[in-house]
Amino acid sequence: MSGFGFGEEEDLLRRQIAEFARRELAPGARERAKTPGMDIEALRKMAGLGLTSLNVPAEYGGTTTGWVKLGIIVEELSKADSGVGGYVIMGPAVVGKILTQAPEELQREWFPRLLSFETFPCFCVTEPDCGSDAAAIKTRAVRDGDFYVINGEKTSVTLGVQGGIAAVFAKTNPEAGVRGVSCFLVPLDLPGVTKTPMKDMGWIPLGRASISFDEVRVPADHRVGEEGRGFYLMMDVIGGLRVCMTLWAIGEAEGALEGAVAYAKGRMAFGRPVARFQGVSFTIAEQATILESARLLCYRALWLMDQGLPHGKEQAMAKWYGTRMAAMAAHEMLLIHGHVGYTEEYPVEQLFRNLVGNEIADGPAEIMKLIICRELMGRDFEPL
Ligand SMILES: Cc1cc2nc3c(=O)[nH]c(=O)nc-3n(C[C@H](O)[C@H](O)[C@H](O)COP(=O)(O)OP(=O)(O)OC[C@H]3O[C@@H](n4cnc5c(N)ncnc54)[C@H](O)[C@@H]3O)c2cc1C
Repeated sequence: MSGFGFGEEEDLLRRQIAEFARRELAPGARERAKTPGMDIEALRKMAGLGLTSLNVPAEYGGTTTGWVKLGIIVEELSKADSGVGGYVIMGPAVVGKILTQAPEELQREWFPRLLSFETFPCFCVTEPDCGSDAAAIKTRAVRDGDFYVINGEKTSVTLGVQGGIAAVFAKTNPEAGVRGVSCFLVPLDLPGVTKTPMKDMGWIPLGRASISFDEVRVPADHRVGEEGRGFYLMMDVIGGLRVCMTLWAIGEAEGALEGAVAYAKGRMAFGRPVARFQGVSFTIAEQATILESARLLCYRALWLMDQGLPHGKEQAMAKWYGTRMAAMAAHEMLLIHGHVGYTEEYPVEQLFRNLVGNEIADGPAEIMKLIICRELMGRDFEPL
C-alpha cells in the first residue's frame, strides 16, 4: 500500500465545508428540517461556494467535481443540515447530469433557472405499481410529429412539490423491455401535468410528490439521448448517487452521535453524567466504529468510480450497509437521550425519521444484496 486516506486537497475541502456548515447552516437547521420547501437563503449561501452547481458545465457557472469530493461535501453538509446535504445530491447533481446530455438550447434555458433557484429539478422513475422493478414502468411516450405525448403516473418524486423540470422515464417501446425506456425533460407547467404533495415522515424540505401526466405534449427535442437508451442513463445516474446518498445518511448519523455525546456528558443520573456508564459510552464507541466502517466502504466505492474501475458491487455494499447502519446509529443515539429524544426538543428524532428514507430511496437493502449476489455468483444463481 502506498498510502491510506485523503490527500491534502480533500482534507482542505473537508475542513472548509465543515467550517462553513457549522457557521452558516447549523444555526437554522432545526427549523428548516421541519419546514416544507428548500430554504433559498441557505441555498444562496451554498451557491457562494459553488455547492449548488456541482456537475453543471462551467459555461453555465458550474464545476465538475470528482465523486470522492462530492462525497466529502455531502457528508460534511449533512452533519449540520440534512436537507441541504440531500439537495446537493437530489437537486442539480442528478438532473444536472441528465441535462448535460440534452440539446444545448435546453441547457441554456434550464441551467440558469436551476442555479438561480427560480425552480427546482426532479427525477421521475417510480410509479404507483413499481419501484424496484424499474423496467416495469407503465408510463408511455408516443411520438406524434414533432412531439411525444406522455401518459402515466409517477410517484415518490423528491423535490416534486417545488420541481419545475423533471427527468421523466417512459416507455417508447413497451415490447422491448429495458431497451424500450426513454428519458424526457418535461417542464412541469405543461398542460396535463398534475402534482399531489405526499405527507412524509422525513426529508420534509425536499417535499415529495406524485405527478400525473395526462396527454402531456413534450417537444421531441426534449428527449435525452437516443430512444430506448433511457434505462441505461437512469442506472448510470442512480448508481453514483447511491453512495452519496449513503454519505448523506452517515453525515446525519455522525451529527446525531455528536449530539448524543454532548447530551450524555451533561445528563446526570445516579449522581454522575450518564456518559460515565459503560452502557452509554460503549454504545457510542460501537456506533462510531460501525459508522467509520460504513464511511470507508463509501469512500472506497467513490474512489473506484473516480478511477474508472469496476464498482457495481461496492456501490451496493456501501448503500445497503451504510444506510442501515446510519439508521441504527440514530436509533441508538435517540435512546441515549431518554424520553426527550422522543420529542422535537432535540434533532435526533427528525434525523432518525429522515434516515429511514435513505434506506429505501435509490434502492432498498434487498435490491442492493441482489446486485452483490449477481456479481459474486453470476446471473444464473440470482436469488428469487
Ligand atoms: C425518501 C424517498 C425519496 C425517493 N425519491 C425518489 C425520486 O426522487 N424519484 C423516484 O423515481 N423515486 C424515488 N423514491 C422511490 C424509491 O426509489 C423506491 O421506493 C424504491 O426504488 C423501492 O421501490 P418501491 O418503494 O416501489 O418498493 P417495492 O419495489 O414495491 O419493494 C417493496 C419491498 O420488496 C422488496 N423487494 C422488491 N423486489 C425484490 C426482489 N427482487 N428481491 C427481494 N426483495 C425485493 C423491496 O426491497 C422492498 O422491501 C424515493 C423513495 C423514498 C423513500
